[in-house]
Amino acid sequence: MFEHFFICPYCTEEISMLIDPSLKKQEYIEDCEVCCNPIEITAHFENNDLIFFEASDIDQ
Ligand SMILES: [Zn+2]
Repeated sequence: MFEHFFICPYCTEEISMLIDPSLKKQEYIEDCEVCCNPIEITAHFENNDLIFFEASDIDQ
């Protein structure tokens, strides 16, 4: 698993999430570990490298 650190779009705390690099393109909802709001995660991998990552609130 690939650990990625980013800023929560709701509480602006730095959090980390484990992402599976075997899935080239993935989009899912995961709750922030600090404020528990649902974050929409978009992650793209190429050769096990994270080439695109976006964390947005689900209302956008
Ligand atoms: Zn948060």
